[in-house]
Amino acid sequence: MQEGYAYYQGRPEHLSKWERVRERLRAMYGEAIFKSWLQPLRLANVKNGQVMVTVPTRFMREWILAHYADSILRFWCQEDQAIHSVDIFVKAEPVLVNPAAASESKQGLEAAMLGIAANEDKPLNPDAISAPLDPRYTFDNFVVGKSNELAHAAARRVAESGAVVAGGNPLFIYGGVGLGKTHLMHAIAWQIRQSDPVRKVVYLSAEKFMYLFIRALRSKETMAFKEYFRSADVLMIDDVQFISGKDSTQEEFFHTFNALIDQNKQLIISGDRGPADLEGMDERIRSRLGWGLVTDMHATTYDLRLGILQSKISKMPHVHVPQRVLEFLAQKITSNVRELEGALNRVVAHSTLVGTTVTLESTQEVLHDILRANDRRITIEDIQKRVATHFGIKLGDMHSARRSVAIARPRQIAMYLAKKLTTKSLPEIGRKFGGKDHTTVMHAVKRIDELCKADKEFADDVELLMRMLQSAS
Ligand code: ADP
Ligand code: MG
Repeated sequence: MQEGYAYYQGRPEHLSKWERVRERLRAMYGEAIFKSWLQPLRLANVKNGQVMVTVPTRFMREWILAHYADSILRFWCQEDQAIHSVDIFVKAEPVLVNPAAASESKQGLEAAMLGIAANEDKPLNPDAISAPLDPRYTFDNFVVGKSNELAHAAARRVAESGAVVAGGNPLFIYGGVGLGKTHLMHAIAWQIRQSDPVRKVVYLSAEKFMYLFIRALRSKETMAFKEYFRSADVLMIDDVQFISGKDSTQEEFFHTFNALIDQNKQLIISGDRGPADLEGMDERIRSRLGWGLVTDMHATTYDLRLGILQSKISKMPHVHVPQRVLEFLAQKITSNVRELEGALNRVVAHSTLVGTTVTLESTQEVLHDILRANDRRITIEDIQKRVATHFGIKLGDMHSARRSVAIARPRQIAMYLAKKLTTKSLPEIGRKFGGKDHTTVMHAVKRIDELCKADKEFADDVELLMRMLQSAS
């Protein structure tokens, strides 16, 4: 990847480290944030334990410092222990993206954002404000199931009504990542644009709204900004949780919001949590966001996952994926739809590439890393129950402070297993055992390790418990 290194002046081995840092940032924050905020970072130099990177604008510098600098430093330190600081400098990019052309392309949103960032003196380009819609994200392609039927029905109603829906303004859709919020919003926008082309639909992410606002402030274009948004008939803001912390943007958002509602324009907002739980968001905004129709998308069910897979595969006429494989994927990949889709695409891509048919075995092989991560998560409660039963003690003893060996030893084993089989931290484990200190947990882990080494029978016992917990489902 050439782009990250344009002005790099340091030693070459740092480039591969930088590449790995970037990959980890991408994995941690996801593609959208990565593209908007982290991809524009350029490595300038690495000297005396100090990493120097550049960004195109001061705003980006501040935003990155506030949100991502800790992770950047942490990942660098893991690559190279000599690193002790990361400094971010502003350096305008000589290569400018043409916002109008960019908004045609797939990455239009991000490219347009960067184009705007680099062209600081150019006036606000209205065509580059509303983000392009993904042609795949239509109602036709949206599979309805128990977990999303309410959100879907609300979205349909707003899309088809031709006017503001009584009691449905704003429509607030919330749910975890990858459950279909953006898909539903695009579907609404497509539908309105098709059935009612004169209605002006503006769709953008909250991040971009904030970005444009701050830029308008700096270039003294706030009037144009306000006019643009207030001329919308339907305003859709995706991932509203990103407008938090920044008071001036929140204020502007609030005014835009009120102005549109007062003019009887439709607002559609999405977020990763309900309005009341949006931390860092002004109380007035939180309550106002909850005034209309609030609907949430729940975790997917098996049936919905299978339905989605079947719908996707029906649009790939040249590939055959056995029903068993689809069922297997629906059963195993439960985290979210994005990951489910990704898994299916990987399986299909692999078979096309290698020229073999898709089988359950090939699927398991291709997806071994994802499957492991989606394996049933063992909870501390499972462990406590299993261990208590095994040793014939009361479940309550797991939380007690009793010190007799007959009680304390099983408790230590449970702590040990909690450390080995879950991702919980020592303090979290301590809390689940009746509020014990993390040093108690640490001691338990050490003690059980020692006993396992010294006593074969004891080790077998612990091993057996571990296997029973791992295979239970
Ligand atoms: P979110 O915005 O909630 O994070 P997205 O809308 O981006 O999630 O959805 C992630 C992916 O999953 C998209 O490719 C989307 O098309 C797909 N998807 C989610 N829910 C459904 C559904 N019910 N039917 C079909 N595809 C879906
Ligand atoms: Mg989304």
